[in-house]
Amino acid sequence: MERLMDAIVKPTAGPGLELRKVPVPEPGFGEVRIKVHKTAICGTDVHIYNWDPWAQEHITHPPMTIGHEYVGEIDKIGEGVDHLVVGQRVSGEGHITCHHCRNCRSGNIQWCKDTKGVGVDRDGAFAEYIVIPAINVIEIDESLDEDVVSFFDAFGNATHTALMWEMVAEDVLITGAGPIGIIAGAICKFAGARRVVITDINDYRLDLAKKLGVDAAVNTAKEDLREVMKQLHIVEGFDIGLEMSGAGAALKQMFTVMRTGGKVSLLGISNKPVELNMNDIIGRGLTLQGIYGRKMDNWHQMSYMVQGGLDLTPVITHRFHYTDFEKGFAAMNSGKSGKVVLSWV
Ligand code: NAD
Ligand code: ZN
Repeated sequence: MERLMDAIVKPTAGPGLELRKVPVPEPGFGEVRIKVHKTAICGTDVHIYNWDPWAQEHITHPPMTIGHEYVGEIDKIGEGVDHLVVGQRVSGEGHITCHHCRNCRSGNIQWCKDTKGVGVDRDGAFAEYIVIPAINVIEIDESLDEDVVSFFDAFGNATHTALMWEMVAEDVLITGAGPIGIIAGAICKFAGARRVVITDINDYRLDLAKKLGVDAAVNTAKEDLREVMKQLHIVEGFDIGLEMSGAGAALKQMFTVMRTGGKVSLLGISNKPVELNMNDIIGRGLTLQGIYGRKMDNWHQMSYMVQGGLDLTPVITHRFHYTDFEKGFAAMNSGKSGKVVLSWV
């Protein structure tokens, strides 16, 4: 008889999610099955829960299991996989890539032309088990705290965006103190930045960012960013900008406070076109880098930063059992949360 498991499923094209029994997936050739221990809720999952325009465009085949931030252990190994063992602790790169296109072949899988998202284009990790290609498996050292590893996917976005540039002794502006912006703040300090300033319009999140060690957390709806720069002796402007809000207003402001010759990486996804003053970018000779997903090497950097002393535990504000997933999504939708971790054990 077919074995069944619990999974958090988008049942139909509309708002909400449902805890359902679905078949336990079988690993095929080159694949492994992972028994999920912990998962974390990402902004993407909230889009899917709320069924906003992004979700309506991207979730084309309900019913499907969602979720892509997770940690667990290898449970079953498919044929053709010989470098992993049952019981080994792992996470997974959430983009399933083709390995044939020009970018994949040059090691830039984050730019694969045929990338497929776990929990978006195929069944995800908010389930007792998930099957992924063995090449996407990330081996995780037993010394790492599983609650933190559960959101390595998001930590990877932050790592990719922040460590795109030399960080030592630089002054950094991060726009958007969502979980990823907050984590990026901690990475920048860990990597040797002089001053890290983060902006948001949500005081709860700005307070959380302070707990992770930024030098200033500025509510730009109430405070003058230039005044804060003066207090911190940021004279010529920010050397590095990390856009992590997706808000046009934040991006526009960033371009006006960068140092000439500064570097900006753009992670935040805007839900509408943004009008920019090109001359702010040209006149300052800024370098702009769009960021998508993670580089495979970011996984290695994340484990080693945590082992080297980067403490991300304060960004976890809520922990629930998966059967209480509604409470987790309510926390995320309230705006008063950092990372929300769901336990599957
Ligand atoms: P989030 O939505 O939790 O955080 C965004 C924050 O920006 C919120 O706290 C919000 O209050 C703040 N904000 C809104 N307007 C602002 C303004 N004018 N100035 C400053 N801050 C403002 O998102 P997250 O999960 O932390 O992710 C950050 C961004 O990165 C999101 O836009 C997300 O869609 C995007 N993202 C991109 C990728 C990628 O591969 N490019 C991957 C993951 C997430
Ligand atoms: Zn590819």
